[in-house]
Amino acid sequence: MKPVIALVGRPNVGKSTLFNRLTKSRDAIVADFAGLTRDRHYGDGRLGGREYIVIDTGGFEPDSSTGIVKEMAKQTRQAVAEADAVVFVVDVRTGLAGQDLDIGRYLRQCNKRVFVAVNKAEGMSDSPLLAEFHELGMGEPHPVSAAHGQGIRSLLEAVLDSFGPEEDEDEAAEPDDADERTIRLAVAGRPNVGKSTLINTWLGEERLVAFDMPGTTRDAISVDFERDGQKFQLIDTAGLRRKGKVFEAIEKFSVVKTLQAISDANVVLLLIDATQGVSDQDAHIAGYVLDSGRAVVVAINKWDAIDSYQRETLERQIQTRLAFLRFAPILQISALKRQGLGPLWKALADAYSSAYRKMTTPVLTRLVHEAVEHQQPKRSGVSRPKLRYAHQGGMNPPIVVIHGNALEGVSDVYKRYLEGRIRDHYKLVGTPLRIEMRSSK
Ligand code: GDP
Ligand code: GDP
Repeated sequence: MKPVIALVGRPNVGKSTLFNRLTKSRDAIVADFAGLTRDRHYGDGRLGGREYIVIDTGGFEPDSSTGIVKEMAKQTRQAVAEADAVVFVVDVRTGLAGQDLDIGRYLRQCNKRVFVAVNKAEGMSDSPLLAEFHELGMGEPHPVSAAHGQGIRSLLEAVLDSFGPEEDEDEAAEPDDADERTIRLAVAGRPNVGKSTLINTWLGEERLVAFDMPGTTRDAISVDFERDGQKFQLIDTAGLRRKGKVFEAIEKFSVVKTLQAISDANVVLLLIDATQGVSDQDAHIAGYVLDSGRAVVVAINKWDAIDSYQRETLERQIQTRLAFLRFAPILQISALKRQGLGPLWKALADAYSSAYRKMTTPVLTRLVHEAVEHQQPKRSGVSRPKLRYAHQGGMNPPIVVIHGNALEGVSDVYKRYLEGRIRDHYKLVGTPLRIEMRSSK
């Protein structure tokens, strides 16, 4: 599981700036729906092979003077509760403020690892001004400049090292044979989209055999089951809890759990509520799934609850708002009425086998040559890109590495053209396909 790091501190110390430094997501996921405080941002990042999730608690309302403290306390508490470690951001230019001491006192009771980041310290790594932050009693302060990118790496190393040594990559090793493996499935979607209903419907099906849940770490639960001979493991995203044979969502939604489940899954089922349409939140989650490279199937739930006019409007909306997930199949289901569930299983299994499709060097190379014969890449500058051979560079998502000369000049349009041809040949559905170019000079 990716560790979760919360950025905590009073307004204007540079938390958002630091957040942007630490995350590389296209788009921070914003918890912008009822039941959760606004303005908590989630993003993920990576240092070498180590991945993590960052929560920013920025975005206070500076007007209402009593409001600030209350809102800040709430933001801070929620973020800290979700986190494995806290980066406590302070500002070297204003020095240690009374509010810093309050936050420090609070953090000390929380029993989380805390790292003090003294921000705005560009060019000040040895400054005597840093000394006063020892007063917080939270270890050696780390001077950083979020704006200028200084000290960030050593701060991150300190935080990540506290989680123990870097894990062997082996754990996420590719299965030798996709047929032999358990499909790790995450069901993602907003509160009330029907996740628990769907899962309960599944678990009530005769053709599905559920196994006892193994106790997993970090009080996440997962459910193992088998359907038509294929093993699945359902990863918890919704804070599901077992109540007899039935699952209920205890907390309606957890962004952290959703992000962790997505990175832990092979296949993500993204549920959209037909009665609500595609919200910003849905689009954010979809964007995150795309970045993760996971296989994805979109199911529009509650299809039973809308009329034919609404269905048409919705389909158009989905095509525009989720256009970037073009490769994902879109199904219509009703978890409640048990409609569309057969095709859904098939789509999930197809997405998984697409994600683990084996592509051999001779076939890929032939496909690339045929594509070039059909349509040459455009000349860029003096040289025309020369595509020589291709091999598979990974699975889930499948990666095709193309070797040749002057490949920097291959346009995105041409890459999409190649992608389309490779997709067609291997009948890849429900998985992104990444194309990488490697030029030899
Ligand atoms: P937040 O309210 O804690 O999220 O703070 P912001 O990230 O919005 O930053 C507050 C102000 O501090 C902005 O004007 C930033 O440009 C500035 N700032 C952030 N990081 C640095 C830094 O490393 N050095 C300097 N000099 N200014 C910074
Ligand atoms: P969760 O928060 O995503 O776990 O959503 P729930 O499974 O708790 O469902 C929220 C509400 O939507 C409940 O009232 C369900 O009965 C209703 N619901 C779920 N699936 C369907 C469906 O396919 N059709 C209709 N009409 N309602 C549904």
